[in-house]
Amino acid sequence: MNREPVSRELFDEVMVPNYAPGSVIPVRGEGSHVWDQEGKEYIDLAGGIAVTCLGHSHPGLVSALTEQAEKIWHLSNVMTNEPALRLAKTLCDLTFAERVFFANSGGEANEAAFKLARRYAWEHFGPEKNEIIAFKNSFHGRTLFTVSVGGQPKYLEGFQPAPGGIHHADFNDLESVRKLISKDKTCAVVVEPIQGEGGVMPGDAEFLKGLRQLCDENDALLVFDEVQSGVGRTGHLYAYQMYGVTPDILSTAKGLGGGFPVAAMLTTEKVATSLGVGTHGSTYGGNALACAVAQRVIDTVSQPEILKGVAARSEHLRKGMMDIGERYGIFSEVRGSGLLLGCVLTEKWKGKAKEFLNAGLAEGVMVLIAGPDVIRLAPSLIIPEPDIDEALARFEAGVKKVCGQ
Ligand SMILES: *Cc1c(COP(=O)(O)O)cnc(C)c1O
Repeated sequence: MNREPVSRELFDEVMVPNYAPGSVIPVRGEGSHVWDQEGKEYIDLAGGIAVTCLGHSHPGLVSALTEQAEKIWHLSNVMTNEPALRLAKTLCDLTFAERVFFANSGGEANEAAFKLARRYAWEHFGPEKNEIIAFKNSFHGRTLFTVSVGGQPKYLEGFQPAPGGIHHADFNDLESVRKLISKDKTCAVVVEPIQGEGGVMPGDAEFLKGLRQLCDENDALLVFDEVQSGVGRTGHLYAYQMYGVTPDILSTAKGLGGGFPVAAMLTTEKVATSLGVGTHGSTYGGNALACAVAQRVIDTVSQPEILKGVAARSEHLRKGMMDIGERYGIFSEVRGSGLLLGCVLTEKWKGKAKEFLNAGLAEGVMVLIAGPDVIRLAPSLIIPEPDIDEALARFEAGVKKVCGQ
């Protein structure tokens, strides 16, 4: 067994170069604090990209994982298992869903969603009704189908030919959807209620309601990609509940496992029927360990006091970032919902998001970016308020250096 000390340099020697990770390697985490190999401490406002929704080493999640680890890990879908059945029941009880399909990542949950949308239309209306309308700047994953539905052409470069029958409309522009949608051809409209990777851009309530109506008028399914906006991120278990717009299919991942890989596609009984026996599958999907952890995540996050706490923390963090923005003239707005916030750089600082991220890291605070112009924050939903204050102070220290003050 290789127990040699490892360093960031090793990455370039042994890993495919599709990532450019930072220079430090975190080795331990507790709550909203993380320590690197040198023992330097950071406050985590990144949450592993909106994943560690209950912070690091949450005792409830550790016990859910270890208790299940001593019972049974994996069966495959040749057998079902108790944690998967319980979790599916819980998700059905707490959402519009009547049926659940488990996967392991957001991309896979979306892949299932898009395949189901096509299969449903094929079954009910015929093979011509196969077109998917998605949105520019959207992100749905990195499989060839999901990256094709995603609205960022750079992620498709060099990977063509891509699956066909996909059109991209303008986010928050209902007219642009009306021009593309048709009863004969459109099987689904796919949308992130809040675009995450695309710059933390919230959908307008009227836009999302309009999509629901257009889908109904055209016998198309409405698919909400809640991989980033779900699991309490907005202060609601799912963002659709905040908007009061119910999709036909919803994908959820990231926060669902709180750091353990698990994803789900939620849908109605009527739509689910189109994924009959043998039409789709996943070896690891519904893995007992993953579902046991996700169960604890959902049981915890769905408590009203946790969801209310998200709103309070959001206010606190948003105000702190707006104050910093004002003092240094760096943000034109802080947008988003709950604990998914995007601080948009002013004209003068456009393109510099990574510099602020690195400056924050040097001062001991981890943040994310969403494109070159937006600082994205997605901390633990239960981050203590003093940690928010300390994180803000550290971020401001970084900002001061970037701004040369
Ligand atoms: C992260 C993300 C995905 C992809 O999830 P993976 O787990 O990386 O496959 C899909 N959709 C949205 C909205 C996301 O934020």
